[in-house]
Amino acid sequence: MQRILYIPFDHLHREYGVLRDSDPERDLVLLVESERILRASPWHHQRLYFMVSAARHFVEELRLRGYQVTYERAATTLDGIAAMRDRHPGMDVWCAEPSSHVMMEQLADAGVQFVDNDFFLTKRADFRAWAGSQKQLLMENFYRLQRKRLNALMDGAEPLGGRWNFDAENRLGPPKQYTYPPYLTHERDAIDEQVLTDLAAMRLNLWGAPPDGTWGTTRAAALRQLDHFLEYNFGTFGPYEDAMPAENWAVHHSLLSPYLNVGLLHAEEVLQAVLRRFERGDIPIESCEGFVRQLIGWREYVNGLYWHFGAEYKQHNELAAGRRLLPLFDDPTATKMNCVSSIVQDLHDRSWVHHIPRLMVLSNLALIAGVNPQEFLQWMRERFIDASDWVMVPNVIGMGVHADGGRMMTKPYAAGGAYISRMGNYCKSCVYDPKKRTGEDACPFTTLYWDFLDRNRDDFARNHRIAQQVRGLARLSDLDAVRDRARVVLRALDEGSI
Ligand code: SF4
Repeated sequence: MQRILYIPFDHLHREYGVLRDSDPERDLVLLVESERILRASPWHHQRLYFMVSAARHFVEELRLRGYQVTYERAATTLDGIAAMRDRHPGMDVWCAEPSSHVMMEQLADAGVQFVDNDFFLTKRADFRAWAGSQKQLLMENFYRLQRKRLNALMDGAEPLGGRWNFDAENRLGPPKQYTYPPYLTHERDAIDEQVLTDLAAMRLNLWGAPPDGTWGTTRAAALRQLDHFLEYNFGTFGPYEDAMPAENWAVHHSLLSPYLNVGLLHAEEVLQAVLRRFERGDIPIESCEGFVRQLIGWREYVNGLYWHFGAEYKQHNELAAGRRLLPLFDDPTATKMNCVSSIVQDLHDRSWVHHIPRLMVLSNLALIAGVNPQEFLQWMRERFIDASDWVMVPNVIGMGVHADGGRMMTKPYAAGGAYISRMGNYCKSCVYDPKKRTGEDACPFTTLYWDFLDRNRDDFARNHRIAQQVRGLARLSDLDAVRDRARVVLRALDEGSI
């Protein structure tokens, strides 16, 4: 029977999703560019450009393979689907399960029929079954199961190298006197240029620098990025994966998350490529294990939790954090904090910074300053090129700002300036001193870290993973001065003057 196959902008792979069992002779393919989504938020310019251009390129790719493809520009996604149905009455619309709760509900209500979402290595039902069998949803347990199930870095029933986890080797700060590998630049083609023209014509309220070649928009570009990682960065990925050097924005990170999250790459092909490269024998196990952990462990775990926790999870605010979003998140000149200013500038320039600036600088600041979790989540979704709902909701609500009462992570990821000083090199040229918690030149992170523990001491005292840090408050002889300084810091953060 002839079908309409609806392809969301993050299902851009011919071999997966609803296209897996498709027939170009029989099926009609539909993509919808929704004006409501384009206008919904002050998206990062590069994020929106990437999403739209990748989708339009995918349309061309499918047409070259003989598919009849309609690219509908409509007021909303549902309007686009309805217009297609009007032209083809009686034809069923099929889609792979979409990647967000909202879209899942909307499409189901519109009568769209679903096939399994296979853009991940773990089926949603399989994760649910695993979660239902666990007392605690520990990522480490899930990851070990993945390693065995996918036979990744295994030596029979044992982990290759004798350990499951090489994190201890993967915590180096920025190297000194170091030559970083070259960045890969992607050229724009006629489709990319047309997307830029169309976005400009819409006069959208966008944030950030326009596209500069950091991100490609095709499967060929995604494969080039994968090759570039394997050639230049894979071997040194692990030890420096948490480092934050001011002089290099990518370090040895793969930059593959945008491509994986829209379907231009599939986790299975990336996994096989890194394992093949590892088998050549010159990649240290700590680099390979660190990358595999992100790919088959963390990424799958976060997606599983997003579906396991349900649509209401994103509304949690268990620490009752009510501060409005700080001006410095949108304006790198609204702070003298060198780490924050540099990282927000990097985000402005490329719509991406790696996981440690996200977690230990941006989210950490939102956490210890008490920024409202939903405002911060929305900001993250708008600004990062790889910010799908499924990835941002658990990472922000559960991990970043601990708004879920510890359902995902047992302890909040709060840190003072000492951590940022150890893992980055921003502090040397900062007006603040990471070691100081009081006084005009005290590092705002250090002040707010102690103030955050103090504000939440009753709750945290019952949490054995952070109770020791809370007990440290008793050793502070200057706690009143810290509280006074914290009031000054919070007011200045609100005003964009610190
Ligand atoms: Fe950031 Fe504090 Fe270091 Fe300044 S001193 S760069 S604010 S951590």
